[in-house]
Amino acid sequence: MRYCIGVDLGGTNIKAGVVDETGRILAEDSRKTKIPRPESEVCADIVETILCALSRAGLTLDDIEGVGVGCPGRIDSGRGVVVHAYNLVWREYPLCDALRASLHCPVYLGNDANVAALGEVWAGSALGASSAVIITLGTGVGAGIVIDSHILMGYNEAASEFGHTVIVHDGAPCTCGRRGCLEAYTSATGLVRMTREAMEQNPESLLWKLTDLAGVDGRIAFIASRKGDRTATEVVDRYIGYLACGLANIINAIQPEVISLGGGVAKEGDPLLIPLRERTYQEVFGGLGEKYTRIELCTLGYKAGIIGAAMLALSSAGQKP
Ligand SMILES: [Zn+2]
Repeated sequence: MRYCIGVDLGGTNIKAGVVDETGRILAEDSRKTKIPRPESEVCADIVETILCALSRAGLTLDDIEGVGVGCPGRIDSGRGVVVHAYNLVWREYPLCDALRASLHCPVYLGNDANVAALGEVWAGSALGASSAVIITLGTGVGAGIVIDSHILMGYNEAASEFGHTVIVHDGAPCTCGRRGCLEAYTSATGLVRMTREAMEQNPESLLWKLTDLAGVDGRIAFIASRKGDRTATEVVDRYIGYLACGLANIINAIQPEVISLGGGVAKEGDPLLIPLRERTYQEVFGGLGEKYTRIELCTLGYKAGIIGAAMLALSSAGQKP
């Protein structure tokens, strides 16, 4: 059996897992990232987390083929450098060199959304798919494209930013500086904004009995809609309409075998998924053929980041690190 380490480096937690060649996690460990603090301190904690996970699996560094790390922000995977990670407050940090100096094994680096997409293809919702797009509906809208087991990175490793494709020209402002991006409407943040706007315009809505404006989250519109509230149902319908528009754009551009949805909003499950499929398929160019893109929910949760990072190392092992 071949083994690799997968590390999910986030702004809140460092998670590491020992993963075998079938995509199974044997053991894991985690620590708080505790930022901001010097990169070298975070790096030392990554090493500690890896060694602890290895010990729990009953293995040592000699048993593994390499370490893969998924990191937020802009990555230069060829040089193994974190170019700019806003939420880690890192710039031009040679993370792979730093980890290799302590671990003495090959280390590979990838963007966290891309690496998580690789995990879903290797062992999750898109298992075995020849092509897949994984969309994360969280505070923002992240995406990763995997084709034939490889991440589509783009010329400067900034591809797959579907969250920042425009679906409403001159629409709502987006964090990226453009207006009308998919992220501005289909992130949890966008859903919260639309819910608040609907509440302000509809003082009779049941939503007011469930929360005040400050307490609105990405779930409340779905909850009130299930109770029959007309205003909330309109918000949910609009939300699904925007998301369907974005998914149809992805299918028209790439036609992947699978699109999988993850993140907080995707936890709504069937009340989101069933109407979303119907509306997306209505918009796809040329209609549905015999072979059409499946729309699914991610199944690995946070483990996608660990498993995908290990896959990155496993698929790269043997190549020049
Ligand atoms: Zn944007």
